[in-house]
Amino acid sequence: MRIALFGGTFDPPHLGHLAIAKAAADAFHLDLVLFAPAGRQPLKSHASPTSFDHRLAMVTLACAEDPRFIPSTIDAPRPDGQPNYTVDTLAQLRQQKPEDTLFNLVGADSFLSLPHWRDPIRLLDLAEWIVVSRPGSPLDLWHDDLSSLRLTPAQGARIHLLETIHEDISATHLRQRLHSGDPCADLLPSAVADYIQIHHLYR
Ligand code: ATP
Repeated sequence: MRIALFGGTFDPPHLGHLAIAKAAADAFHLDLVLFAPAGRQPLKSHASPTSFDHRLAMVTLACAEDPRFIPSTIDAPRPDGQPNYTVDTLAQLRQQKPEDTLFNLVGADSFLSLPHWRDPIRLLDLAEWIVVSRPGSPLDLWHDDLSSLRLTPAQGARIHLLETIHEDISATHLRQRLHSGDPCADLLPSAVADYIQIHHLYR
């Protein structure tokens, strides 16, 4: 099988997430996209996200939109309170699924911060990468941005760019709008919008 890990905060999951997962699944013939909310993101400045249980519940509702999308608890909060590092997650997936082709699906903003991730070279060896364009994060100069990693040609060849996506949606912007009372129905899967309303999130 061809399986992509799609990690993030998903606070909340939005239509941009669904659009890029669908585009990646179509373009790279993925059988599964694992939507994995992180208990604790190592690099996020957004310090106190909505509880993991709420984010997982919203991701589960969002995943109902496509049979290839599967909610995953692989990045659930760690018992020791440590951040969830993608290198550990991918290593665990590789161990669980030795026969499958693994991909790591990220937006351009995440990809350009790769030099700050734990063990970037190993990350590129553990999976192929699908990098999706995102407004405000130009990908055309990624070789320069990532030059500090001194990628080998083999590692470079495992990075696939999907540049046809122009989804100008961010969870940060959504949280601000939800906070000011806007239901944001045009930017959220409807089941997620209902969940947010029922549970009085982002008020
Ligand atoms: P925040 O605004 O809180 O930082 P976010 O909208 O970036 O959140 P995350 O849950 O952090 O959402 O994103 C998970 C993954 O999805 C990341 O790899 C991110 O780059 C990617 N992503 C999110 N929104 C988009 C988008 N509109 N276009 C392309 N990639 C996106």
